[in-house]
Amino acid sequence: MRIGHGYDLHRLEPLTPHGAGRPFVLGGVHVPHDRGPVGHSDGDALLHAVTDAILGAMGEPDIGQLFPDTDPAWAGKDSAHFLAEAVRRMRAAGLRVGNLDATVICERPKIGPVKSAIRSRLAALLGTAESSVNVKGKTHEKVDAVGEGRAIEVHVVALLVAA
Ligand code: MG
Repeated sequence: MRIGHGYDLHRLEPLTPHGAGRPFVLGGVHVPHDRGPVGHSDGDALLHAVTDAILGAMGEPDIGQLFPDTDPAWAGKDSAHFLAEAVRRMRAAGLRVGNLDATVICERPKIGPVKSAIRSRLAALLGTAESSVNVKGKTHEKVDAVGEGRAIEVHVVALLVAA
C-alpha cells in the first residue's frame, strides 16, 4: 500500500466583476457564496488536494507540474479533469483508493450542508464507495487569512491499495 498527502490553499475574493473570485466550487460541488477562489483553473482546492494526495502516494509529478498554471489550456478548467488524470495513473499502476480523508478549513461558506454531496461526488470521481471517502469541515476561529474569509485551505490523506 501507498500513502499520500495533498494540500492546497486558494485566496477567496468577491466574485467577478467585483473581484477576481470564480464561482465557489468545492469537491466538484457549486456552493452559493459571495466570494470565490482565485485560480487559473476553476480553483477547486479540494479536488487539487485530492489529486496531489493520489499523485504523491505514487511518487508521480504533482498537479502543478502536470498542469502548469502558465498553460492557457487549463484556464477555468473543471478540476475533475486533473483528478481524472491522477485516477488514470493510479489504475495504470494497479492501485485503487483504500480510503481518503479530507479536512476543509474555511470560515464561510459552511461545509456541513454540502458535505454529503461532496462526498458522493468525490467517491464517483475516484470510482470508490462513499464509505471510503470522508470530508470534514473546520473553521479557522476567525484568525489569519483563512479565519477572515480571505482563503480556503484543504488537507487530504489518501491510502492507495492494490486493485
Ligand atoms: Mg489549487
